[in-house]
Amino acid sequence: MIEINHLVKKYGDHIAVNDLSLNIESGKIYGFLGPNGAGKSTTMNIITGYLGATSGEVKINGFDVLAQPEEAKKCVGYLPELPPLYMDMTVLEYMNFVAELKQIPKDKRKSSVKEVMELTKIMDMKDRLIRNLSKGYRQRVGFAQAVIGYPEVIILDEPTVGLDPKQIIEIRELIKKLGEKHTVILSSHILSEISAVCDHIFIISKGKLVASDSTENLTLMMSGVQEIELLVKAEEEAAKEALRTISQVQKYHMTKGNEEGTVKILLSAEKGVDIREAVFFAFADAKLPILEMKAEGKSLEEIFLELTSQKAGAAQRKEQEVVA
Ligand code: ADP
Ligand code: MG
Repeated sequence: MIEINHLVKKYGDHIAVNDLSLNIESGKIYGFLGPNGAGKSTTMNIITGYLGATSGEVKINGFDVLAQPEEAKKCVGYLPELPPLYMDMTVLEYMNFVAELKQIPKDKRKSSVKEVMELTKIMDMKDRLIRNLSKGYRQRVGFAQAVIGYPEVIILDEPTVGLDPKQIIEIRELIKKLGEKHTVILSSHILSEISAVCDHIFIISKGKLVASDSTENLTLMMSGVQEIELLVKAEEEAAKEALRTISQVQKYHMTKGNEEGTVKILLSAEKGVDIREAVFFAFADAKLPILEMKAEGKSLEEIFLELTSQKAGAAQRKEQEVVA
């Protein structure tokens, strides 16, 4: 559906998009996740033909965005970071204007406009000037102009930014609904925003792709228990003895518990290995009662930080090879 090959965008000496390659299949919801300045908007502006690339190639449905912009653009609806709204038009005037601009056949314009206005719930505001709309309604109008004509691909740049929680939920529902029939790409710097609606996540940092996986896989990767906190009724030596019998324990840190005759243990296991059972049996065999056990998997937040921090350089390069 969309193919991006070795995309580069430079602003003077500054590289905003740095050799980005990725593939987007039809009928899924994709997320561009990355901190501010990562290059998400720049990439979206290039995909939609708003901005030229320094080098590299973008193809939509086989059409090169540069060589065949008309054909390529026809497949795409775009909600940019700043929606292209005309403040002095009413909502209905604006939607009619957009329908014309998008060359929706004359006899279908009225019904198309009505349909998307109903979908995005802006009918009540049809006669209001856009300048007098709340942020939430403006965003919905921006949404409506991206969706009208039902292009195959709908690209949304930070669609929930600046909205209140209720509006965010509504927009999410709308995105999911669109995702049933269309390919949707949305960007956000907020993890929960992306994982709530997307099937597949591209993590972008400093213009590079640092991870590409299904939301399911990313979540799964993070769900394995890695750190366990224990409170055991035992003397230190006896507890150490019991820990020695658990082969999967990588390292641990032991301190005295608050209560007399207890120890607190923080232990970590290999990634993806759940050792709670082994821990339970090891201490049971040693007749040392576990008073508390808390397991913490890595959160999506932590993985994200790991991937977007410089330390993860090697892993990033590996991931990129796989994706490219
Ligand atoms: P994101 O959308 O992920 O926050 P952007 O694509 O907006 O990131 O920006 C990527 C980088 O390119 C940032 O460092 C930004 O400062 C820079 N940048 C964006 N637009 C311009 C521009 N018109 N001129 C110069 N630098 C720009
Ligand atoms: Mg942006």
